[in-house]
Amino acid sequence: MTMLGTHERPLRVAVIGAGPSGFFAAESLLRSLVLCRVDMFDRLPAPYGLVRGGVAPDHPKIRTVSKTFEKTADHERFSYFGNVTVGRDITVDELRRFYDALLFTCGAETDRPMGIPGEELPGSHTATSFVGWYNGHPDFRDCVFDLSQEAVVVVGMGNVAMDVARILAKPVDELRSTDIAEHALDVLAGSRVREIHVVGRRGAAQVKFTLPELKEMGEIPGCAPVIAPADLEYGPACLEEINTPGMKRIAEVMEEYSRLGGDGAARRVRFRFLLSPVELRGGGRVESAVFEKNRLTGPAFGQKARGTGETEEIPCGLVFRSIGYRGVPLPGVPFHERDGVFPNTAGRVEDNGRTLPGLYCAGWIKRGPSGIIGSNKPDSLETVKNILSDAVSLAPCPEPDTAAVLRLLGGRGVRVVSFDDWRKIDAAEIARGQAAGKPRERFTRVDEMLAVLD
Ligand code: NAP
Repeated sequence: MTMLGTHERPLRVAVIGAGPSGFFAAESLLRSLVLCRVDMFDRLPAPYGLVRGGVAPDHPKIRTVSKTFEKTADHERFSYFGNVTVGRDITVDELRRFYDALLFTCGAETDRPMGIPGEELPGSHTATSFVGWYNGHPDFRDCVFDLSQEAVVVVGMGNVAMDVARILAKPVDELRSTDIAEHALDVLAGSRVREIHVVGRRGAAQVKFTLPELKEMGEIPGCAPVIAPADLEYGPACLEEINTPGMKRIAEVMEEYSRLGGDGAARRVRFRFLLSPVELRGGGRVESAVFEKNRLTGPAFGQKARGTGETEEIPCGLVFRSIGYRGVPLPGVPFHERDGVFPNTAGRVEDNGRTLPGLYCAGWIKRGPSGIIGSNKPDSLETVKNILSDAVSLAPCPEPDTAAVLRLLGGRGVRVVSFDDWRKIDAAEIARGQAAGKPRERFTRVDEMLAVLD
């Protein structure tokens, strides 16, 4: 019986998805005494997932984690295969021929719908598309956002909603020196957006955003954060909720904002609470968003929004729904439809409660879209620990040969992008950016990235 995890026969792990959870997992696999070879696949030529395509351009520090990922990529037992779509260019079954373990770190690539009438009207968008668009993600390059509208509604009270609201609220000159995509800068420069309503279905004590994001909202030149004092009158359960280390400062900052008023500001970000979206209205495009007013029921830390039957209509020309991401199914892997994740226990993928040996997951496709980038590290480590402890019992793959994988992909006409290739694309983006006084100007189409290599 072949012993996996030795110099003679390293454990062969395919990591599918080159975002933070994939890189955290790869780093830990490569450090293990159980010798591993890690081949990482991503559907885009460029690695780093949400670090590249999700983090807001005015948060450059968060992106610096990619420096650590570069070190992992330098490891002699690591290879990167970008521009390869698993499930299309190579199937999960085919990968199993070449790898002892498959680790899916493919994230949550889509958004949760609101499921209300009018959601598909022009002017109604997902936050994910706006975020992808301003970050130059090829999937969203051709999105069109009509920023000639004065009033915008952002549904949701998480950090993504805050990113969207902040990018809409910032004077464009504040963004020029960031790595925001040039096409987004052009559109934002002509923006007529004045009122940005950030709308939560629960109250001020249940916001999901974090303190730095809230504080930034008060530091935008020409923009006032607005909160009605009545929204900060807490009942006993809410008082318990804001009396926690995480919420205390957030509640204090909201209190400060409630005293500002916002009159005379060029732009306002209005925080609105206890409103659930029920309909988007408009003849041909969004003209207003209708919300049902809620009250909270249930115990502290488990309070739910209950509709009162009363509604409020907010006139607006644009709506961004920012109510959470969702994983997408991958042929050959079980999928939990309700939660939008791969069913698993501690990262071991399961089918109807039965573990599928050799299939693992980590990150948002494992636990759902929660936490900051660093939260993926312990999550990935948990899965890696299980992969390593399973190594003795895993069935060795029949063809432990990375060159054979590349031959198969090459035979299908797939232009595989190596990490060295990526470094060339990276250098070209940085050079483009320097010319414009920015840290980088991303290529926003896959063809443009590949053209750098030709
Ligand atoms: P999130 O933090 O889960 O927030 C989702 C928001 O949508 C919540 O306010 C939620 O309200 C609301 N919501 C859910 N379903 C709804 C519905 N049917 N109708 C109305 N509202 C609804 O999600 P996110 O903002 O997409 O962020 C995802 C993760 O990425 C989070 O962990 C976030 O912290 C992280 N992130 C971090 C940063 C950063 O560190 N700077 C930036 C971006 C994202 P309830 O609370 O009532 O469910």
